[in-house]
Amino acid sequence: MRIGHGYDAHVFADGRRLVLGGVNIPFTRGLAAHSDGDVIIHALCDALLGAAALGDIGRHFPDTSPEYRNIDSRILLRKILTLLEEQNLKVANVDATVLAQAPKLAPYFDAMRTFLAGDLKIPIGRINIKATTTEGMGFIGRGEGMAAYAVALLDERE
Ligand code: MG
Repeated sequence: MRIGHGYDAHVFADGRRLVLGGVNIPFTRGLAAHSDGDVIIHALCDALLGAAALGDIGRHFPDTSPEYRNIDSRILLRKILTLLEEQNLKVANVDATVLAQAPKLAPYFDAMRTFLAGDLKIPIGRINIKATTTEGMGFIGRGEGMAAYAVALLDERE
């Protein structure tokens, strides 16, 4: 088996949708990014690529490429799963932590897990998502943006 770790952060911006784990979340601001700014999926993509020793999300999907402008990050996630399958790897489980002062994200976790389970072709019980504030500390606490950490475990396919 192989383990990988990922991290991502984006700054809040007006006039953007907030998309996390593929779910549209009602909020006053969204996250600025070349793609849809889905920090959870970006951290997860890097964890998966890391476990497979395939580099990082920026290498596979450059933010200078018009092809990926405002792209649904679930498309990137599914492309990465294809890369893993080409390496004869499958996802064993993933775990992500979102850092955000607001909004409350717990009501959306199951919808996120359902999307990610479909994209990664694993049962929902192998996906965990959780959130924490930073108790007002730092750029997260000041509400300047959001960040996410993820870890992924891969197995060889039989
Ligand atoms: Mg990102």
